[in-house]
Amino acid sequence: MTTGTPAPFCATDYKARMDRAAQSAADAGLAGVLVAPGPDLVWLTGYQVPADTERLTLLVLAAGQEPTLIVPALEAPDAAKATGAGAMTLRDWTDGRDPYEITAPLLRSKGDSGRFGVSDNAWAMHLLGLQRNLPDTSYVSLTEALPMLRGVKDAAELERLAAAGAAADATYEEIKKVPFAGRKEIDISRELADLLGRFGHEQVDFTLVCSGPNGANPHHAPGDRVVQDGDMVVLDFGGLKHGYGSDTSRTVHVGEPTDEERRVHDIVREAQTAACDAVRPGIACQDVDRVARKVITDAGYGEYFIHRTGHGIGVSTHEPPYMVEGEEQPLVPGMCFSVEPGIYLPGRFGVRIEDIVTVTEDGGKRLNSTARDLAIVG
Ligand code: ZN
Ligand code: ZN
Ligand code: ZN
Repeated sequence: MTTGTPAPFCATDYKARMDRAAQSAADAGLAGVLVAPGPDLVWLTGYQVPADTERLTLLVLAAGQEPTLIVPALEAPDAAKATGAGAMTLRDWTDGRDPYEITAPLLRSKGDSGRFGVSDNAWAMHLLGLQRNLPDTSYVSLTEALPMLRGVKDAAELERLAAAGAAADATYEEIKKVPFAGRKEIDISRELADLLGRFGHEQVDFTLVCSGPNGANPHHAPGDRVVQDGDMVVLDFGGLKHGYGSDTSRTVHVGEPTDEERRVHDIVREAQTAACDAVRPGIACQDVDRVARKVITDAGYGEYFIHRTGHGIGVSTHEPPYMVEGEEQPLVPGMCFSVEPGIYLPGRFGVRIEDIVTVTEDGGKRLNSTARDLAIVG
């Protein structure tokens, strides 16, 4: 696996991203973009707000205007340390002042009837504050207005995503060796988290261990259930390494599986392979979902595949583009997303197989390469 530390992004990289966002907004007919703390802000500036504070932090981007970060005074020193700080103006505000009054002139300069794209995760309180000060402005979801803002990854980002995928693969190889039967899900889950950290993840987002009937719930939170001999166990884990995401699933079996368990696993594997093989520039996101769903539906399990086939991944582990019916966005080289069909049989067991795939000129390239057959664990 890759062990080298990639060269860090510099202020020039962040400036290019901010310029691109401002230009894309102008092209989409928006007056600008308002970015709240979260993955968009991290991607655009390198600034990771330590905790989701109720105080207003907001990056204002507009074509032809210096990027400006509105930041609480007490957090300004940390914001100034962000790599992207060199490419923007910091405007701090102190407690007791109205931060929306400070922000308003920046938006007003773009015209009173401005329409802005705003981060999906911005607090309603802040958006209401801006609307109070600027009654003539309007706001649209940034994801809806610019769905591909972070969707196409450059070479440096793909290198990080590949390293994160390799670390997740190394984690799977190790977890297969630990005892499953007789241990609580939560204990195996903690081991997964430790392994992700050992293989270089600085952040663990989820380490799902869904055993037996719990496997029928795709987002089951690992708990006190003791894993039994004969259980199917869905493992799904990921987080961030060098700031970029991993997310992989494999389903293992404790001891010898039944014929039905093997058959269901084979169907999911066939669906996952077909969908990965279908990936190429120009097909729509929904086509990836359709290919996987057709295999499972034709096998008679369509009603048990209860979620979309995949989601984008980058500086966050879930982001656009989504591989879902209705998403007509065509695939473009550099996009990176999960392909993760599953079958969930209520009260019995579930199977999911998930790889991260990147789009190349020649088709899809998987960033996870561990065996996809039904592994037998002890
Ligand atoms: Zn079984
Ligand atoms: Zn996953
Ligand atoms: Zn996923």
